Parts: sequence; structure tokens; C-alpha cells
Amino acid sequence: SSYIKKQNNVHSNTSETLIKKSLGVNKSRSVSKFVNLSTDNQKKDEVKNESTIDDNPYLKNIDPKMVEMIRNEIIECKNLITWDDISGLEFAKNTIQESVIWPLLRPDIFKGIRRPPKGILLFGPPGTGKTLIGKCIASQSNSTFFSISASTITSKWIGEGEKSVRALFAVARCHQPAVIFIDEIDSLLCQRSEQEHESSRKIKTEFLIQLDGAGTSDDDRILIIGATNRPQELDEAARRRLVKKLYIRLPDQQARKDMIKKLVGSENHVLLDDDLEKIASLSSGYSGADMKSLCQEASLGPIRSMTFDMINKIEADQVRPINLQDFLSALKIVMPSVSSEDLNHYVTWNDKFGCSD
Ligand code: ADP
Repeated sequence: SSYIKKQNNVHSNTSETLIKKSLGVNKSRSVSKFVNLSTDNQKKDEVKNESTIDDNPYLKNIDPKMVEMIRNEIIECKNLITWDDISGLEFAKNTIQESVIWPLLRPDIFKGIRRPPKGILLFGPPGTGKTLIGKCIASQSNSTFFSISASTITSKWIGEGEKSVRALFAVARCHQPAVIFIDEIDSLLCQRSEQEHESSRKIKTEFLIQLDGAGTSDDDRILIIGATNRPQELDEAARRRLVKKLYIRLPDQQARKDMIKKLVGSENHVLLDDDLEKIASLSSGYSGADMKSLCQEASLGPIRSMTFDMINKIEADQVRPINLQDFLSALKIVMPSVSSEDLNHYVTWNDKFGCSD
């Protein structure tokens, strides 16, 4: 990770200069914008440089209402995600750095035969950091982050589905460099079935067209990230287009230890390195999300040993520190969410289609 960090430092200045030099929109952005299309009620932030975007030729022939819908849901997220926020997954992180971050930052170098993949697939059990990685890619490449779950496209956008998909890509082109993160991509690009609805078939076709179109011109800097817990449902067309397929696996012992350290690091605790090692070893099979739940549960240990009256009166700094016993008790309550049977599916699929790790 120190390697990655070093590279990030090198590129943070370069990228900004580059963005200023080469883009017609968002010239002043230094922090990536996070666009979450599944959140309905978020207070919308004003989109900068609106007039430049309105004049953008990419939006010709796109229903302004759709553009509005997509643009209105842009939210600025100042929480920069760094590689250090993601424990473990060194192979995936290094591959992503080289094959997508650098090209997004330096399209002038990564062209021709070095041209990056248009799409990548992150597959693996739920709660292993796929979304976190998507946000990190957007952060580290100074890109606008579009996040949508495929079920939103197929349910909420039903009827207007293909038009919305077209609008999504058009707006993304206006906000380049852009990262479009599609969660549950399997439900969008699944194998064809007899019962498949006409409208979802159209959405799927449009999506594949857009995917083929994105990044075709030398100036296009759009990356599509598909995430799935069910890679086996993806059809051949999707597998072919999401060129890099990265297995986002359960955290290993070292990664679990790192997570515990980070999660309870800022709390009052008396855990020694040996204790962390022990908890990490006892939590084998837990996902990143499970580790978070485990730490939350353990952190309640000191509170549980008090009566309500005590909780009412005690000074915050008098609450006893979290100890090993709290974790041992929490380990009996919080169980791993991924079965070993499920894991076998991912391993088999990774052997067949994944980038090696
Ligand atoms: P996924 O998209 O794979 O289902 P998320 O990225 O949404 O999982 O992860 C859920 C939460 O679990 C994250 O917000 C984070 O708190 C924690 N988490 C999961 N994996 C990791 C990881 N590798 N490093 C740090 N935290 C993680």
C-alpha cells in the first residue's frame, strides 16, 4: 500500500493540471462528486458550470427531463476514500491502480494498445468492499461518481428504461472523468430467459450499446464498474465487455486484524497486539461488513455491564475500556454471513473467468 500511496501523491497534482488542461467541464473540481441515483430525497447540490454542461453536444437528442433527473441527484461528497481505508485486497488494489486509475489520470499515455478496459467487474460475497472500492476509484482518479443499483434501473426506470440509460451515459460524458458504478449488475445483464420482459430486454440492449460506445473516442474517460454477488448469472456478452474481472474476496487474517484496529482504534480499549491477533484468528470467514458488526457489538460490551441508572449518571470518560472478553462474547452473537458453499462458487468462477490472484 505504500507503493500505491506513493503513486497517488505523484498523481494528485498531475491529474489536477491535466483536468484543467483537457476538460471543458468541471474545471475547478478538485474533489470528486458522488452521484447517487438511488437516493430520492437528498438535498441536491448545485451542479457547477451548468451552462457549459447544457451546451454540451453530448446532451443533444437527450430528453432534458431525464438529464435533469440524473443531474439533480448529484451530491457532492467530500469524504475522500483512500486505499488505506480498504483493508487487504492487495492484488485487486494494485491491478485497479495500474489498469484503471492511471489511465483515467493520464489518458495521453494510456492510449492505443495501452487503452484501459471500458468496464471492470468486481465480484465476490456481499460486504467485502466492492462499493468501497468503487468510491475509492472515483476519489483517486478525481472522477465524478455515478452510483446506481441495477434493480433501480429495471424497476424505477421501467417504461423509460432505455432512454434513462442513454441519459445516464450522456450525463456521465459531460462530467468526465466519470465512474459509473452499477451494483447488482447481474440483474441487468443476466442470461436471457423465456419470461424476460420486453422492457428489460430493451434496457439491457441499450446498456450494452452504451457500454460499447463509452470510451470509444480518445477523449472519453468513462469507466463502468459492475459489482455482483452472483457472477454466475452474468451472460457471455457482459463477461466479454467487463474485461477485468476481479475477485473481491473475504478478508484474510491480516486484513481482519487491520479492520479491528481501525474500527476500535479511536475508542477507549485495552486490546494488545496478541488480543487483536486472537480476535482476527477467531473471526475467520467473516466479511468486512461482518467485522464491522462484530466491532459494534463488542463496543457495546462495556455498556451492557451497567444498569440503566449507571448509564444515566456516568461520565462518558468513565465508561470502561473495550477488552478481549467483549470480543469473545460478540463472536458468539455475530456470525459470519457467507457460507463456505457460497465461497466455492466464487472460487470456481474466478478460476474460470477471473483475473488471477
Ligand atoms: P459490498 O459492496 O462488497 O457489498 P461494501 O463496500 O458496501 O460491500 O462494504 C460494506 C461495509 O463493510 C463498508 O462500508 C466497510 O465498513 C466494510 N468493509 C467491507 N470490506 C472492507 C474492506 N476490505 N476494508 C475495510 N472495510 C470494509
